[in-house]
Amino acid sequence: METAEKKQIVLSAIQPTGTPTLGNYLGALKNWKTMSNDYECFYAVADLHSITVRPEPAQLRRRTLEMYALLLAIGLDPEKNTVFVQSHVNAHAQLAWILNCYTQFGEAARMTQFKDKSEKHPENVNVGLFSYPTLMAADILLYQADFVPIGVDQKQHLEITRDIAERFNGLYGDTFKLPEPFIGKAGAKIMSLQEPTKKMSKSDTNAKAFISMLDDADAITRKIKSAVTDSEACVYCGEGKDGVNNLMGIYACCTGKSFDEITAEFEGKGYGDFKAAVAEAVVEELRPVKAEFDRLIADKAYLNACMQQGAEKASYFANKTLRKAMKKVGFYQL
Ligand code: ATP
Ligand code: MG
Repeated sequence: METAEKKQIVLSAIQPTGTPTLGNYLGALKNWKTMSNDYECFYAVADLHSITVRPEPAQLRRRTLEMYALLLAIGLDPEKNTVFVQSHVNAHAQLAWILNCYTQFGEAARMTQFKDKSEKHPENVNVGLFSYPTLMAADILLYQADFVPIGVDQKQHLEITRDIAERFNGLYGDTFKLPEPFIGKAGAKIMSLQEPTKKMSKSDTNAKAFISMLDDADAITRKIKSAVTDSEACVYCGEGKDGVNNLMGIYACCTGKSFDEITAEFEGKGYGDFKAAVAEAVVEELRPVKAEFDRLIADKAYLNACMQQGAEKASYFANKTLRKAMKKVGFYQL
């Protein structure tokens, strides 16, 4: 009899569209690390997704390697978890095609990310951008994931993944596990430092709007000092105080303090003191990650070996699900 309980499965991915921001870190990556001990985790660099914005080839290559190094730098153990590059596992593109045929045009057209990104890049509204959710569904369903740690902005894509999986299971019998989102309470949505009603995004053209995970202490301090706040000069969480709310969220994530504790800490003090404390907390939070990244990025042979191993492990699991789905659809088997 088997005594050890089978671990539940976690899958998540991040695009190599730029150096990840503090938003990616607090909203997603930090939870990846937290979950990595208790779950069977699959973590991917989503390079297939990232070509919807047509990156320079050399830049895509460099960013993929850097993103991979950064995932190890936050403390993911490539022996315990499966850390891989999406395009190294053919099953993602294959299952995505199949799922395209089980997704309605109207469903995909409702996705806010599609609307936002089409507005941002009106010159390149490609079909890949439109079918992003079916590739994301394939990413998740291939691993029969129980949980998907994401920021709030990806919740809608997780819902459509569940809809597609339910539809497929309804037609052909149980094939895919229905995944649940895992959205942390704090950090679920870190906002832009310059326009605090919009989410912080690594592809933002204004570098002052985001903190990159590899920014040095000076840059972090400068950006937080110039973050948009309000004229009230009083640290509390309230309506119309988007800038302050956001900084309080960041400070809470980095220190573990509650909003009430933060309000008490800065009673009678102005935004200058508050911003200095936020900057220091962020610098301390990111310092060890940056140091480890610098060490790893110098060892390309090691990173390549980890990637290779990750691709093999991921392919093994993914191909099992792909074969099952193809058989159900009726593809001729050899
Ligand atoms: P892009 O602008 O290229 O889409 P992005 O910053 O949105 O970049 P993604 O690679 O799309 O990053 O997302 C990686 C993960 O980070 C996802 O789980 C997403 O929900 C999360 N995330 C992205 N932005 C934020 C944010 N501002 N706050 C919290 N989580 C975020
Ligand atoms: Mg995104």
